[in-house]
Amino acid sequence: MIVHQAYRFALDPTPAQARALSARCGAARFAFNWGLALVKAVMNQREAEASYGVAPEDLTPAMHWSLPALRRRWNQAKGEVAPWWAECSKEAYSGGLDRLARALKNWSDSRTGKRAGPVVRFPRFKSKRRARRSCRFTTGGIRVEPDRHHVTLPKLGRIRTHESTRKLARRIEAGTARVMAATVCFEAGRWFCSFTCEVERNDQPPARPDAVVGVDLGVAHLAVVSQPLPGGTDAAGFVPNPKHLVRGSAALRGACRTVSRRRGPDRRTDTQPSKRWERANQRRNRIHHRIANLRRDGLHKLTTALAAEFGTIVVEDLNVAGMLRNRRLARAIADTGLAQIRCQLAYKTRWRGTWLIVADRWFPSSKTCSECGVVKVKLPLRVRVFTCESCGLRSDRDLNAARNLAALALRSTTGTGEAGDLEPQGSNGRGADRKTHSTWAGGDEAFTSHRATGSDEDRTTGNSVLPQRCYPDMVCR
Ligand SMILES: [Zn+2]
Repeated sequence: MIVHQAYRFALDPTPAQARALSARCGAARFAFNWGLALVKAVMNQREAEASYGVAPEDLTPAMHWSLPALRRRWNQAKGEVAPWWAECSKEAYSGGLDRLARALKNWSDSRTGKRAGPVVRFPRFKSKRRARRSCRFTTGGIRVEPDRHHVTLPKLGRIRTHESTRKLARRIEAGTARVMAATVCFEAGRWFCSFTCEVERNDQPPARPDAVVGVDLGVAHLAVVSQPLPGGTDAAGFVPNPKHLVRGSAALRGACRTVSRRRGPDRRTDTQPSKRWERANQRRNRIHHRIANLRRDGLHKLTTALAAEFGTIVVEDLNVAGMLRNRRLARAIADTGLAQIRCQLAYKTRWRGTWLIVADRWFPSSKTCSECGVVKVKLPLRVRVFTCESCGLRSDRDLNAARNLAALALRSTTGTGEAGDLEPQGSNGRGADRKTHSTWAGGDEAFTSHRATGSDEDRTTGNSVLPQRCYPDMVCR
């Protein structure tokens, strides 16, 4: 299976190389801002002319904002607006203009209804102070050196990596990966290089291809799995919530206090930050990054373990963005990274050719008895133990939910629902162009099959199985 995958390595550039990397990112930002100013000027000019009653055919011609058009305009103007342009490779300017072209397209598509999802605003100028320093290279000498501790970037030359590049280098040597682009960015006081690769993956099938597992995600426990997974969960199937932010909060509090007691930047009084403030701020940023890294590591280990063991995984379609709007729960939910789990399971099951079933948002996984199938009308969140009045089942609330999710999969596979198309990924490979899901209003389960059939394409089917919110005929196995 050919997939697009990123390999990201921390860099250890020399001071001169770090300056050069910074210059590339600044050049990309400059080109972005220049193009945006031009587009805005033309738009405003046309608007003003129209308000004076100029006929539409006599208006200043509209500007094309495709990448080739922007690049042509840049090449005409660069001698005047940026006489220093030769200091950086043309890739840097092109990368900035590419970002502008995409931003304008997203805005325009969002306005005309071609793009689903949240409204995309008109792009804004990138500030020198606040913009993320990042720059993309798509052509030229982009290489991972065979010594596994250096990468080569166009015009920048060999840069030492902080960590070994063997994961990618091995694949390149074996001919199963091809580097398509490289992006450098500056994060938490360190430079990173991310390679976009086309990778030929041949992942092992899961250990138990016929096993079905339901995964209930939450805050009390990070995940509750309907069958225990050695190494991933405890004996009952619980994955504790590591609460990285809570654990790191004492250190963070101390670091924040130190920062607040030193002289920081202030735009109102034009105060430059002191060296001591900068050091303290760096320390604080490092703690934040450590927390994020720990969280990411834990989630990857969990999802990899699940995908490696079970042939079918059932999760709920959680409205994480909506849950984050609850100001009492937002921090605890954000600390778990619930949305990441589903995202990672989606591509990890695809790599292994297994199934990921996403239960409908309104599927009453918690309120249903996993033994006899009776659905409760109400079950407040504080009730942690599910007690069934009809069959007397007493079970942990989340474990009961996980079992219901697993049972849903067994029903789905034997159901005779209508098939529809459900494309989980954006068509442009970046996931940016969202498609409206074909889960229709009646409610159904998004039944996403990733069983590889020899071709590169992931075959996906939608399977309507159950009516929504009404489960009188719920049958347990
Ligand atoms: Zn029951």
